[in-house]
Amino acid sequence: SVAMLGALSGGGISLAAFLYRYGSRSFSEKIRQAIEGGRLTLVYQPLVRIHDRQMVGVEALARLTDEYGEDIAPDVFIKVAEEGGFIDRVARIVIRTALKEMRSRLKATAGFHCGINLSTGDILDETLCDFLDREVKSHGLEPSQVVLEVTERATADPEQLIGSMEKFRQRGYAFYLDDFGTGYSNLAYLAHLPISGIKLDRMFTQAIGKEAMGSTIAENVCAVAKALNLQLIVEGIETEEQAQYIDRLSPAAIGQGWLYGRPVPAEKLRK
Ligand code: C2E
Ligand code: MG
Ligand code: MG
Ligand code: MG
Repeated sequence: SVAMLGALSGGGISLAAFLYRYGSRSFSEKIRQAIEGGRLTLVYQPLVRIHDRQMVGVEALARLTDEYGEDIAPDVFIKVAEEGGFIDRVARIVIRTALKEMRSRLKATAGFHCGINLSTGDILDETLCDFLDREVKSHGLEPSQVVLEVTERATADPEQLIGSMEKFRQRGYAFYLDDFGTGYSNLAYLAHLPISGIKLDRMFTQAIGKEAMGSTIAENVCAVAKALNLQLIVEGIETEEQAQYIDRLSPAAIGQGWLYGRPVPAEKLRK
């Protein structure tokens, strides 16, 4: 508007500050509307036991399109939803959709689980556990068929985070620590986290066979998983060489990546 331009040229507000205030707010509003308008959908990526290529579950990954049908990257809209205070809406839509599709489209059997990504705020959200429980029951599933993924880069008071994770655990939900290797966890902290598995970030997988660093880190993470009795999940497996490398180190590892399948809508998942 003219008044806004006046404010700009009058030197009251810098262009950067203007865009930050008004530009980002409308972007955030756009994302909120897309979420509330039913344009949040899920795709599923296979989780495969590397040794025998048996599919043991899937990870649900959120997708969002704007009003023109253009994709908004998950890294972007998740961050905007966290900062805008509406990540709780994302979590509830994701949980409800995933559990419904587990039942109806994926025809999940007892041993088959679905990984659901939660933001730190979701884990600390005191009402989410009850919501999850109700949804699991109403879709005729078991808590053991849901694995919650919490990122290693989670920024929260560790004691508070651990306390909240314990509540989910007591009701039968397991946690995997996502993006492992990109955060700051030391071994003492890791040993205290109520988790059942660690997901090695794809950054390291993709360095296997290319950089000494990739193989060294993969070897050490396999050793850590074994020592702490944690399930190892290796993300970003794109080649047979990467799969074989991990299989030699850790025959019980689960793999995820384009080698086994890209994320697809539930009806396109081949079990
Ligand atoms: P993430 O949980 O670590 O998910 C794995 C990401 O790696 C996904 O990206 C997946 O598409 C990608 N990927 C899987 N295999 C390969 C591969 O072989 N090669 C390559 N290059 N990439 C691979 P995506 O779908 O873009 O999701 C990005 C991140 O957004 C996720 O990382 C997760 O942190 C977040 N996210 C996605 N859905 C949700 C959600 O429902 N809630 C929350 N809080 N976060 C979510
Ligand atoms: Mg994840
Ligand atoms: Mg991950
Ligand atoms: Mg990741």
